[in-house]
Amino acid sequence: MHPSTRRARVLLSIAIGCAGAPRQAPPPVAAPTPAPAAALRPPEPREAPPLLRLPREVHPVRYTLSIRIVPTEERFSGTADIEVELDAPRSVLWLHGRGLHVTSARVDAASAAYEQVNAEGLARLALDRPVGPGKATVHLAWDREFDPQIVGLYVATEAGERYAYTQFEAADARRAFPGFDEPEFKTPFDVTFTVPSGEVAVANTMPVEEQPAGAGLKRVRFATTRPLPTYLLLWAVGPFDVVSPPPLPPNQVRSRPLQVRGIAPKGRGGELDFALKTGADLLVRLERYFGTEFPFEKLDHLAAPDYTYGAMENAGAILYREDILLFAPGVSAEQTRKSIASVMAHEMAHQWFGDLVTLRWWTDAWLNESFATWMGNRTVEEWNPAYGAWTSFLDGVDYAMGKDALASARAVRQPLDDIKNVWNQFDSITYQKGGGVLGMFERFLGPERFREGIRGYLRAHAYGGGDTDDLLDALSNASGREVKAAFHTFLDQAGVPLVGARVSCSGDRPRLLLRQERYLPLGSSADRRQLWHIPVCARYSTAGVEKETCTLLEDAQGVLPLDACPDWILPNADASGYYRWSLPPRDLRKLTGAAYRSLDARERISVAANVRAAMHSGVLGFADGMAAIAPLAADPDPQVATVPIAILTAAREDLVPDATRARVEQVGRQLYGPVARRLGWTPRRAEAIPVRAFRARVLWFLAFTAGDPAVLSEAARRGRAYAGFEDGRFHPRAVDPGLAAIALGAAVHQGGAKEFDALLARLPEERDVAVRRRILAALAATQDPALRERALALPLDSRLRKNERIEVLFAVAAHFPSREAAWTALKHEFDQLVPQVPESHAQEVIALAGEFCDRAHLGDAEAFLADRAPRMPGGRRQLAETLEKVRLCIAYRDAQGASAGQFFARASAPARR
Ligand SMILES: [Zn+2]
Repeated sequence: MHPSTRRARVLLSIAIGCAGAPRQAPPPVAAPTPAPAAALRPPEPREAPPLLRLPREVHPVRYTLSIRIVPTEERFSGTADIEVELDAPRSVLWLHGRGLHVTSARVDAASAAYEQVNAEGLARLALDRPVGPGKATVHLAWDREFDPQIVGLYVATEAGERYAYTQFEAADARRAFPGFDEPEFKTPFDVTFTVPSGEVAVANTMPVEEQPAGAGLKRVRFATTRPLPTYLLLWAVGPFDVVSPPPLPPNQVRSRPLQVRGIAPKGRGGELDFALKTGADLLVRLERYFGTEFPFEKLDHLAAPDYTYGAMENAGAILYREDILLFAPGVSAEQTRKSIASVMAHEMAHQWFGDLVTLRWWTDAWLNESFATWMGNRTVEEWNPAYGAWTSFLDGVDYAMGKDALASARAVRQPLDDIKNVWNQFDSITYQKGGGVLGMFERFLGPERFREGIRGYLRAHAYGGGDTDDLLDALSNASGREVKAAFHTFLDQAGVPLVGARVSCSGDRPRLLLRQERYLPLGSSADRRQLWHIPVCARYSTAGVEKETCTLLEDAQGVLPLDACPDWILPNADASGYYRWSLPPRDLRKLTGAAYRSLDARERISVAANVRAAMHSGVLGFADGMAAIAPLAADPDPQVATVPIAILTAAREDLVPDATRARVEQVGRQLYGPVARRLGWTPRRAEAIPVRAFRARVLWFLAFTAGDPAVLSEAARRGRAYAGFEDGRFHPRAVDPGLAAIALGAAVHQGGAKEFDALLARLPEERDVAVRRRILAALAATQDPALRERALALPLDSRLRKNERIEVLFAVAAHFPSREAAWTALKHEFDQLVPQVPESHAQEVIALAGEFCDRAHLGDAEAFLADRAPRMPGGRRQLAETLEKVRLCIAYRDAQGASAGQFFARASAPARR
C-alpha cells in the first residue's frame, strides 16, 4: 500500500502539487447484525471469542463468491461457499463480517446462526449440530450498503458516473464479504459478478465467461486466482475506459507474453499513456532483479477518483488514486511523472513482496512496506536517475529518523495489540525507517549477495507465507554472514543510533574511534543507553585519494582502522546508514568547508541533516549550525539547495519572537530571491524534475513564508490569468502546471470574495483530482478572516470528496497566520468531521495540534484530545507523538531561541550584505 503518514509532506504536496501519498477515508459504523433466531443457538457454555486472531484450527481452503455489484444501486449482495478444513467436530466457527446483513447461513447440512460480535467485525457462526473433522463448506448469503467510508466495497462518482471499487487492506474485506480476513489464510478464489451489461468488471484475473443475466445485467465469471489472502482481492465495476496495449513480450525470466492494461474513468483513457509506458519499463526491471516472472496472470492499473490511499497492490490489479496514475499533458504538473513512477514501482514490487510471498501477520508489515519502499525507489533510480528518486528516498529516511527520535516512537516490528490499531503499522517507521535499514544492509552485504538472499526467500515461500526470520535466514545464507541479530536490533527496538566518530592519528596506526548511544533531542525523556549492531561505513581522503572502510559496530565503543591519517572523513559513506553521526567541530568544519565539493549530493544533504540534528540535541548552537547550512541555498544540486527552507520556516514559526520574524523572512529572501530570479517562472524544455520541484518549493516559500512582494504579485498575476476570472475557464498556458497551485493561491491570497467564490464555484464540476487539489489549496491561502472561516468550513461541505476533507484543514494550517484559526475550526468540527473521514485516517487530524510550539496550545490539545484520541483507531499513539512533538519544540525554543535571534539579527543586518 502507498498511504500517507507524513503530514508535513502532504501539506507541501497539496500546496505544490507534487504527489505524496494521499490519505483520507471514512469511518465505520458496523452495528452488529442482530442475531437470528435464538432457537438456532447451540447449547451453553458458549465458546469465548478469540481476542486478536482467529483460531488456526479452522481454516479456509477455497472461496466461491458470487456478488451483485450495480454501482447505481445503494446496496450490493452476495453468496459465498467457503470450503474449510476443521481439526475436530465443532459447533462454533469464528470468522469475519462487518456490517453485513446476513440472510442465510449454514455449514454443510447444519443450520447456522450468524452474529457479528464486535465493532471490528469478528463474527460467530453457531451451528445446530457439530461439523467436522475434515472438510466442510460454509454457505452464506448477505447484502450491505456500499461502504460510506470508501473502504471495503464502495462507490466513487466522477462526472456524474458511478464506479464501484474495493479497498481491503488491512482488515476491510470483511466489510464486503464474510470470510477469514487475515493474511495467513491464502486460498484460491472463484469469483462471479452480476453487473450492468454495458459496464466493465475487473478482478484479480481475467473473465472466462460472460452471460446475460436479464434486466440489463450480465454475469461475468473470472478465472480461479492463485492462492491469495483476502486483503489482496480487487473488484471494480463501472463504465471504464480500458486501454490494452500489446502484451509485454517474453524475456529472460518470463516465457509467456504478459497483458498489462490501464483502466480509467470514462473519457480519461488517453491519460494512461505515461503510466503504461513507464510501468512496462519498471516491471521488466523488477522481473530481472527478482529473477522470476511477474507472479500473476495479468496486470491491470486502475485509477479511482475518490480513494483513501495512494495506491494498493492487489494481486494483478493495482488501484491508484487518480492523480498518481493519470497524466494529462498541459494540465498535470511534470513532477507528477516522478510520483507516478515511484508509486507504480512500489506497488509492482509488492506483487512479489506481499502478494507472491505474504506476511503471516501484521506485526511483519515491514516485510511488505519497507521492501516496496526500498525496492520501488531503487528501481526508479536505476531506470531514470534524473528523477532524483534515491535522494528523495533518503530524505524520507531522514524524516523517519526524526520520528524515531521521539521517546514515544514505536519499533518497526511492534506487536499489534488490537486489530483496530493496525493502522499504526503503516507509518514512516515501517516505510522509511524499514526501507533505510534495508538499504544499509544491502550496501553492507553487497548488492549481489543481498539480491541472492531475496531471491532465495521468494523461491522458498512462493504463493505462501513468510516472516521476518525466514527472510533474515535467507539473507544470512546467501551472504555467508549472520545478519539476523544485527537486523533485529533495528527492527525490534525503537530509536535512531548516534555514532560519535573521532579520528586518532597518534600511535602506530591511524584509527577512527567510534561510540554509540541513542540519539535524543533536547527535552527528551528517553534513555540514551541503547545498543545496535550498526554497519558503519566511513569515506575519507588521504593525500587526495578517497577510500571507504566499514565495520559492524556491536558494542558501545569500537575502532575502524584507517590506512593513513585522513584529510577529512565522513562517518556515513553515501548517506546509506540508518544512524545519526557526530564529529568534533574541527572535522565537521572540513566537511562543510574544503571537503564539501568532494561529497556527492546525498552526502551533502546528510551533513546538513546531522548538523540540524546536532542543533536539536543542543550539541551545536543554532547560530553555528545555521551558518553552516545557509550557504546550501546556493548549491548547484536542487535537492541540496532545498535544505535550508525547512529550517528557516521552522525558525520563523517556532523559534523566534514575533519581533524577529521579519528578520527571518528577510534572510529567506536574501538566500532564495536570487535563486528565484535565476530559475524564473518558465521551466526550460526537458528540465529535470528535481529542478522543477525546487522552483515550486522556492516560489511557495518566497510567496507565503518569506513574504517576497515581487514573487507574490507575479504569482497572483499569473494565478488570475490561469483562473480566467473574466470568462470562467482555466487558461493552462498562463502558468506552468507545476506552479499553478502557487499562482492560484496567490490570486486568492491577494484577492477577495470575488476570486474565492469563483474558484469555489468550479469545484462541483471539476473532475480532475489534481485540479481539485489546486483549487482547495488556493482557497486555503486566503488571508481574509471571513473567507478563511468559509475555507475552514469546507471539511464538512458536501462538495468535497471524502478524501479531501482532512487535507483542506491542513492546507489552511500550512499558512502560518491561519494556523490558530485552523485549530479552532478543528475543535469545533471534530465530532462531526471524524465520522465523515475514513477510519484509518481519522486519527491524522490529531497531528494538527503538533503544529504548535507553546505551553498554552499543549495544554489545550491535551485537554481537548485526552478523551477523543483513544477512541479513534490508532489515536492513542498519534496523540502521544503529537504532544511529544510540541514538548520537544518548546524545549528546543527555550534552548536555542536566543541563539537564533542573534543569528537572524546579524545575518539580516544591511552591513553584512
Ligand atoms: Zn506499499
